[in-house]
Amino acid sequence: MEVTQKLYSVKLTYEELKILDGKVNEEAQKIIEIAKMEAGFGFELHVMNEILAKAVETGRLTWRLKQIRSCPYCDKKRTYHTYTRSTPYHSKGDLNYNRPYYYGGIAFNEGFFTIKGVGDMCIECCKLHHVIERLVDYIWDHDLKIEVQENDHRPTKYLKDSVYVCQECGTETAESKMVWKPAVFQGWYPAACPHCGSEKVEKTEKAEFILNPELLPEVELIRKDLGFNEHTKGTIRFFKNRSMPYVFTVLADSPFGEGTIIRFHTEKKQYTNGSWSDETVFDRVAKILEAAGYERKEFLI
Ligand SMILES: [Zn+2]
Ligand SMILES: [Zn+2]
Repeated sequence: MEVTQKLYSVKLTYEELKILDGKVNEEAQKIIEIAKMEAGFGFELHVMNEILAKAVETGRLTWRLKQIRSCPYCDKKRTYHTYTRSTPYHSKGDLNYNRPYYYGGIAFNEGFFTIKGVGDMCIECCKLHHVIERLVDYIWDHDLKIEVQENDHRPTKYLKDSVYVCQECGTETAESKMVWKPAVFQGWYPAACPHCGSEKVEKTEKAEFILNPELLPEVELIRKDLGFNEHTKGTIRFFKNRSMPYVFTVLADSPFGEGTIIRFHTEKKQYTNGSWSDETVFDRVAKILEAAGYERKEFLI
């Protein structure tokens, strides 16, 4: 008869976990490693350490506003709306158990499945403890490879760049360096292998991190140049592609319509002219790009 060992579940403090460090099975050691990481972050609000550990694991820090039932950091307890007038069954002011009371809250790093009414804290506590600002600053100060969602405090330093594998030639390529093609309805998608051209490509679990293109000196220079140039004021727009955050377009915006003057790809270090001719603007931007090592191409993607 095969004898299996009985397994016990237990809750331990960090100090107790440290005693077991290196002496337990793989699964338990994983929990100890996470605990050590969280303790290393050192935020006094434990949930901030947990949020950051999760962000390190997934390579992303995200959050969204969410209705929550209670907040663990203040006096917002689970409750219900009250009856506003008396009925044969209830008195005015009694709790109406059919109508749960929700508070404005925030949930970090939510996955695909979410639980109604559950979040990390209320908006007031998030603001009071500067949770987002301190998490974003920590990620910057320690150069953690995490893509932070857009926010008013600081831009993300890195973007997560998924890796694809080609079924034909076996080459692995980051999404930003793939051959992109227009999607059926709108936008673009990473369609083919840049090495052999095969469209048999598959997204892997792996990812690389690229510097946020917005922070590149050439992008900052172009923004500045276009912004302070009397000639371009109000007639030129500069924007980043939504699905390809490394593709920028300089657009002429006139009463007669709009047209692309120049487009460039910060990861492929390429630029190309658009259909709209404005030599002054084109030359200014091209000069900055050439100085940063970009190559002119007939097409970008
Ligand atoms: Zn709260
Ligand atoms: Zn290939």
